[in-house]
Amino acid sequence: MKISSDDIVKINQLYPSMREDAKCFLCEAADLNAFIFSGLRTYEEQTKLYSQGRTTTGDIVTNARPGQSWHNFGIAMDVVFKNSVGEWTWDDKEMWDELGKLGEKHRFHWGGRFRGFVDLPHFDRNYGFSLEELNEIYSEHEQLSDVWTAINNYGFKA
Ligand SMILES: [Zn+2]
Repeated sequence: MKISSDDIVKINQLYPSMREDAKCFLCEAADLNAFIFSGLRTYEEQTKLYSQGRTTTGDIVTNARPGQSWHNFGIAMDVVFKNSVGEWTWDDKEMWDELGKLGEKHRFHWGGRFRGFVDLPHFDRNYGFSLEELNEIYSEHEQLSDVWTAINNYGFKA
């Protein structure tokens, strides 16, 4: 199957050196009817998401404050299945394992292996950085490009 145009848009918001591998992964994920649900999340978007279920309505969907998620730095994506009528679905338990292994084949860390809070749709890379380090780099000028430059200069290749 072909990669969807929605996925292309989301992939192009990720850390540039990650895009090619993300494309290869999502191209194969499309065969499983799985697509990017969430890629880059800005600090502003993360703030909104964190508020949900705490100070605003809805269920709690994240424990990460802004700067505490790999998504905030464009090096993570959540990949979720769609059902036969094109709606997002998290229900098919058997498929997650297959999707996880597919992501790992493309050298992404899979949230299905996280201890504690297992995050089945989540795939990321850290390039040898901690979230604290990336948050510090970002916070200096509030520029995502600073983070990406630091990864280019000091990070290890995935
Ligand atoms: Zn995620």
